Amino acid sequence: MSKLLIVGTVAFDAIETPFGKTDKILGGAGTYIALSASQFDIESGIVSVIGDDFPQDYLDLLTDRNVNLEGLEIVKGGKTFFWSGRYHNDMNSRDTLDTQLNVLADFQPVVPDHFKDSDIVMLGNLHPAVQLSVMEQVNNPRLIVLDTMNFWMDSELELLKQVISKVDVITINDEEARQLSGEYSLVKAARKIRDMGPDYVVIKKGEHGALLFHNEEMFFAPALPLEEVFDPTGAGDTFAGGFVGYLANSDDISFENMKNAVIYGSNLASFCVEKFGAEKMLHLDKDAVDRRLESFKALTQFEIKLA
Ligand code: AMP
Repeated sequence: MSKLLIVGTVAFDAIETPFGKTDKILGGAGTYIALSASQFDIESGIVSVIGDDFPQDYLDLLTDRNVNLEGLEIVKGGKTFFWSGRYHNDMNSRDTLDTQLNVLADFQPVVPDHFKDSDIVMLGNLHPAVQLSVMEQVNNPRLIVLDTMNFWMDSELELLKQVISKVDVITINDEEARQLSGEYSLVKAARKIRDMGPDYVVIKKGEHGALLFHNEEMFFAPALPLEEVFDPTGAGDTFAGGFVGYLANSDDISFENMKNAVIYGSNLASFCVEKFGAEKMLHLDKDAVDRRLESFKALTQFEIKLA
């Protein structure tokens, strides 16, 4: 069975959208990636850090889904990473209200022996120094996928560039791709980012879908138009988790198969946004997931008749 190693925050989030507001709830890039990837029959483990203020119930939600937590350090007396954000009325853009690194500030990740030979490493959004350290501890994975955000571009750009130079795939949103490359055109931005290291660039455009770039080729997957969008938090991470979970499960990292991975990622992300926080990802119905994949197919397939 393919092994997937996930690095990313396990966090408390407080979210405001035009539909309501939450207190501190389960969040974190690593959490969303793991919940999404756990839809596939693979072996997965998380490397991250939390404080002892983090409820056991939340950890159980991950172990119940066979996510290995050996690499999750619990700091005695420490406070868990906290993020809070408010979405604008368009639900596509948001302001970060607060980011408290807490235990993440001094985190020295340790990859458990059992995951050193992971097939795929998913470097979820957190400090680039942690991402670098994890890459140094694994032996030749077949694929390294990186997700990051503007927060790290603003605060740790040089270190982040080092990480980018060593990965195979980067997933990034459109605004961040423009910030990183200095290019408005996403085609030019993707080319510049590929020149920084990754062979594959995935640009996430929220409700407008996702683009996959490789050499001079390009693939586009729309986001499924949904009746209800309550909270986009974690959609990008859920996309990434579906992307790597599918690739690990199918054991095929070709460009052709990555197109399918983009569809699987988009499909799972479409569920994530339908409820607040990770709620929907905790109660996913396999049949509903499969049915929605069919809707994706119907949405994008057509036969063109030349006039
Ligand atoms: P997304 O909506 O996919 O961008 O991911 C939102 C998740 O990212 C939330 O659950 C946050 O806990 C987490 N997050 C927000 N800011 C950061 C940051 N600077 N570093 C790591 N994780 C973050």
